[in-house]
Amino acid sequence: MMTENLDYSMLLKVAEQFDSPVYVYNSAKIISQYKRLINVFKPINIKVKYACKALNNTAILKLLKKEGSGLDTVSINEVKLGLRAGFQPSEIIFTPNCVGFEEIQEAVNLGVHINIDNISILEQFGSAYADKVPCCVRLNPHILAGGNNKISTGHIDSKFGISIHQLRHVLRIIKTYGMQINGLHMHTGSDILDSGVFLQGAEILFDAAKDFPDLKFIDFGSGFKVAYKPNDITTDIEELGKALGERFLEFCKEYGRDLELWFEPGKYIVSESGSFLVKANIIKQTTATVFVGVDSGLNHLIRPMLYDSYHHITNISNPEGKERIYTIVGNICETDTFAWDRKLNEVREGDILCFNNAGAYGITMSSNYNARFRPAEVLIHKGQMHLIRKRETFEDLISNEVEVAF
Ligand SMILES: *Cc1c(COP(=O)(O)O)cnc(C)c1O
Repeated sequence: MMTENLDYSMLLKVAEQFDSPVYVYNSAKIISQYKRLINVFKPINIKVKYACKALNNTAILKLLKKEGSGLDTVSINEVKLGLRAGFQPSEIIFTPNCVGFEEIQEAVNLGVHINIDNISILEQFGSAYADKVPCCVRLNPHILAGGNNKISTGHIDSKFGISIHQLRHVLRIIKTYGMQINGLHMHTGSDILDSGVFLQGAEILFDAAKDFPDLKFIDFGSGFKVAYKPNDITTDIEELGKALGERFLEFCKEYGRDLELWFEPGKYIVSESGSFLVKANIIKQTTATVFVGVDSGLNHLIRPMLYDSYHHITNISNPEGKERIYTIVGNICETDTFAWDRKLNEVREGDILCFNNAGAYGITMSSNYNARFRPAEVLIHKGQMHLIRKRETFEDLISNEVEVAF
């Protein structure tokens, strides 16, 4: 049987064998999240394009490829990672923002789907390829959504997508160059709670679709919210599947043809699969608080500092210990507080703490700040531990430096 939650003894074994800090992913959870999304849309055969910026280790990409997923990429290097992991170009969509036209051309040469995010690139694309290469258009429907301003992309001041109010301009360009638009896309932000927001955006795309006779797919992006706190409210995937699924079938009738329905979830697929293990180096009592200083920091998991995000933390070395209140901080010379005033089972120096829901935007946003190594990554698959990325070494830190002879 596959288990979705790794038990403490397995996590402690990982920390023992591979040391800390270390990211641990559970393949069973990734697969079950993927399947859950596919299943709620049946009988519609939706296509999932996993947004690999959330977690792009090749082992994870291969795992999802095996399940039948495609890939959403935002840089040419993510495209190359996807191809290297075995995805067909036709299974990959390239959705960059503010890249130069050369990067778009490189992606065209690699054969992947191109999603265009601004008028300037649309014009250059039309001028270069006319009707020879189809592309998708990213529209901004201007619906408000997203957990906080930094991850909300649909608002009026957002840099993402082409405003729905510029539709006439888009159509003029397409007509002038005889371009083939094979998809319409929206991605309104992360952490959308209300499935009504997806439906609102869907209606805007369905309405716009009337002007695009060559469509093959409509891509609703992502924004599924996952539970970071116990009892957090999450996007009701089942409700969304039913409501959007029905409406999509109706739309296809109106359109006159069956189109494909795409999604690009990142966080939803991998967040809950991941645990980040750190060691309590120092317990420091000040006049106001008790700090736990761990062997990691904003260089390894920046979400709490960047987005004020909450990660549930557990002391897996002392799960029966008496509960006490702690402030958990990193070891970086910067104020890198992971959490204030958390109840943890008594923490002793040397204990292993586990950050939950660390699968998405953990390692991919990590850095070498303070000249520290990025952590190792371990995948638990069918009960076995697999090291899927080694911890960096001192040689890695200096490998690109070029010496000057003074
Ligand atoms: C980041 C991103 C996603 C994934 O967002 P999540 O909140 O992680 O699901 C999907 N599509 C595009 C275009 C993105 O930039």
